[in-house]
Amino acid sequence: MRFSKLYCPTLKEAPREAEVVSHQLMLRAGMIRKEASGIYSYLPLGYRILRKFEAIVRKEMNRAGAQEVHMPMVSSAELWKETGRWDKYGKELLRITDRHDNEFCLGPTHEEVITDIVRNEVRSYKQLPLNLYQIQTKFRDEIRPRFGLMRGREFYMKDSYSFERDEESLDTTYKTMADAYHRIFESCGLDFRMVEADNGSIGGSSSAEFMVLADTGEDTIMECKQVKYAANVEIHTDEYFQKQCPDVPLSELRETKGIEVGHIFKLGTTYSEQMKATFVDQDGQSKPFVMGCYGIGVSRTVAAAIEQNHDEKGIKWPKALSPYEVDIIVTNIRKDELREPAEALYQTLLDNDVDVLIDDRAESAGVKFKDADLIGFSTQVVFGKSWTENQQVELKDRMTGESKHCTVEEVINELLGR
Ligand code: ATP
Ligand code: MG
Repeated sequence: MRFSKLYCPTLKEAPREAEVVSHQLMLRAGMIRKEASGIYSYLPLGYRILRKFEAIVRKEMNRAGAQEVHMPMVSSAELWKETGRWDKYGKELLRITDRHDNEFCLGPTHEEVITDIVRNEVRSYKQLPLNLYQIQTKFRDEIRPRFGLMRGREFYMKDSYSFERDEESLDTTYKTMADAYHRIFESCGLDFRMVEADNGSIGGSSSAEFMVLADTGEDTIMECKQVKYAANVEIHTDEYFQKQCPDVPLSELRETKGIEVGHIFKLGTTYSEQMKATFVDQDGQSKPFVMGCYGIGVSRTVAAAIEQNHDEKGIKWPKALSPYEVDIIVTNIRKDELREPAEALYQTLLDNDVDVLIDDRAESAGVKFKDADLIGFSTQVVFGKSWTENQQVELKDRMTGESKHCTVEEVINELLGR
């Protein structure tokens, strides 16, 4: 992609309403635009980042044995009445009525819909366990949508649902999913914790949240480094820790702020009993499915990555999420001796499937450097002074701030992992 053609309307300053840094920077870097309170459009760079994270999630879900489906965003009131959540969910459930006066809602989560699918098709223990997921737009009419993508009304979520024969099987899937979640957040280079959590309105027996550590997090985590255990203070305070893990000195306890990016639940038979979703077990008995559900806030994770990785100049994307992996900066596009080798490198990287952008705009070097740091491309290759002087480029790592001078061959070898 050529920067001269890129639709990336940057702003000098973020609108005043943007309170947290991820919201400010995504607006300034031309990644998102607000349509209404808690509802955003993704512009090309923002959408690329979302898609990159989505691809990581998809890869790990498939690897964990989950199968991708796609359920409708609109679901019928009948299903929600079966579980009582039509009334219980409250005003967060956006209800709509069609021209025939049928009631529907915009899905805030999909336990009812997936249980309906499975109860109509899966009959025998031989078809279990079954783990289905989707990556899809959700709608929750949040009372206080804020912080941009962090707490939207329309947002992007990966939700999986597992159907099991018994608790033992659920334990195995729950562990597999927890491992997959670790791999997902690790591959994005995020500093996170898995913490014991409250079950909230979804119900069930136990649950864990995945928290990206950041000062702007809305959740408080109590962590004991010595025994490597952490919990959301919604369920366990320091008094609890003192009673449990007593040999551990209080100084080993730490309170930190976190952003909830994932939540895994052991649901048990709550939904299957309410919706009469049963299978026939080996002993010929009809039993309710034992269920688990597993969510990742896809759009929230993107914002959380920014909350954790930024400086006064802009975003510092972890490599896996950078909207383009490499930004080739030509400091003066009118100079053939800079433009030609930069274009040659651009072609080589394209030919080798590197996700590369070339800043070929007729702008000053200063503007290009500022934009590159604001947008936060993880790798920047500069054709400028050191090229003119000794045929070397400057290779910059946005995350570490390190930079070095090297030949084009060395850049190619490094980027292609040779
Ligand atoms: P919260 O406590 O932040 O309101 P939740 O516990 O209600 O979230 P879950 O039902 O666990 O959310 O949904 C799964 C994941 O979806 C969450 O872990 C979070 O990452 C994401 N998520 C939930 N609500 C929102 C929202 N309003 N905007 C963006 N992401 C959200
Ligand atoms: Mg949650």
